[in-house]
Amino acid sequence: MPELSTWVGLDDTDSYSGGCTTWTAAQIAAFLRDKLLDFPYLIRLNPEIPWKTRGNGALALHVSTLGPTQEEGIKRILAVASRVEGKTDPGLVLVSEGKAPRWLSDKALRDVVTKRLLEKALSISGETGAVQIVGLRPGLPRGLIGAMAAVAHTWGDYTFELIAYRDDLTKKREEVLSDVLYMDSLTAPVTFLNVDREDGQPLIYPHGPDPVLFGIRGEDPNVLIAAHDIVRNTSRPWVIFKTNQATNEHIVDIEDASRARPYTTVRFVAYVVDKPQVLQGGHVKIFAKQGATEIQVMVYRQTGYLNRISRELLPGDKVLFWGAVRPGKVPLTINLQGFKLLSAVKWEDEKPLCPLCGRHMEKTNFGAYRCTLCGVRAWDPQIKPITRRLRQGKDYLPSASAFKHLMKPWNRRPLPAAYQFSPAYIESQQNPHKILSGENY
Ligand code: ATP
Repeated sequence: MPELSTWVGLDDTDSYSGGCTTWTAAQIAAFLRDKLLDFPYLIRLNPEIPWKTRGNGALALHVSTLGPTQEEGIKRILAVASRVEGKTDPGLVLVSEGKAPRWLSDKALRDVVTKRLLEKALSISGETGAVQIVGLRPGLPRGLIGAMAAVAHTWGDYTFELIAYRDDLTKKREEVLSDVLYMDSLTAPVTFLNVDREDGQPLIYPHGPDPVLFGIRGEDPNVLIAAHDIVRNTSRPWVIFKTNQATNEHIVDIEDASRARPYTTVRFVAYVVDKPQVLQGGHVKIFAKQGATEIQVMVYRQTGYLNRISRELLPGDKVLFWGAVRPGKVPLTINLQGFKLLSAVKWEDEKPLCPLCGRHMEKTNFGAYRCTLCGVRAWDPQIKPITRRLRQGKDYLPSASAFKHLMKPWNRRPLPAAYQFSPAYIESQQNPHKILSGENY
């Protein structure tokens, strides 16, 4: 008979003033070290949820069946590690023999989950196996949405993140740019988003009051451990999470832009109808249309490269846009996360030349052209080829520093097939003792 297993899901244990749900999960993972059946899972959910603290991350652990002492231990860790203040409403769930329904995870990743939907998911899970809910406030904890969604997650594309934690929260993080640059030069693109190439700033260090020292993202746990040793060769605790970060999983493809829903991230085809407008502050507004649906595409200055390159779009361009739908805006307005030029305008109209004097004619009130010197008239403009900086079929994305967790960087590449079948890689995927650093929990 196969060994029975349990899923532990948790979310919403941190607040703006500190804590981090990955740290709570790391402590539970260390406590259940011998029971871990896989990497701890860090599942990023809908980034447009307004009540998230930072990156809307939820955590799940797949472990062999727990006894009462271990269950008690987990609950103790939750109580000690959580910051029950402000809107924080920690939720932990233990699901044995059966997972939460997949639709809950899909919905939490791309849309808004209501309390009613959560209750439905809990009742379905309750039919197939035991569900134990732990909260620290009265009622059904809001953190349960993320906790259940993390347990229900089914893997498509995935990456890993090694998160190293601080031992002293009162000390400023020591950022060593030269180490990060060296690590990046040896490990990228198997690791990614280490540095912003435009301003040379490291991207692995967070700046909040949370216990994370740094996080290195990448394709291969072995390489992450090596990268960690380059950046900080000390025995701070670290954990490798398997994650849906950098996969674009949050994006919903829609054919009809008029059906875009608030708090979702959508991708659709539309035509640019006017020259992009540069607003005060350097933000760019693009007017686009899909059939009768008008769309405003906002490209904020903070998106760096995306903001600059979007100014090159021209009326008539056919473009695949993706971005977050702004609630309550008419016409439909999205905050751009990326675009791909599908079909570029290649010609532009130009005032025709006068056959007598060779000067450009002027446009008349009737839409024709006339040479103001010789009086010669012409009906049609001259057509001139345009040199475009934008390349058809290429993804245009924000600068690295403007990336959100789920956004897929341009330089992410699958590992070579030969490497994926190598013993070292297979071992790194299967051997739980490599998930956690040895000491200091
Ligand atoms: P951190 O990344 O530091 O852990 P966070 O940004 O993940 O913080 P939380 O404090 O966990 O933010 O708050 C997010 C809350 O929103 C959680 O209670 C979670 O259950 C809930 N939530 C997440 N996704 C959805 C969704 N799609 N619909 C409704 N609620 C959601």
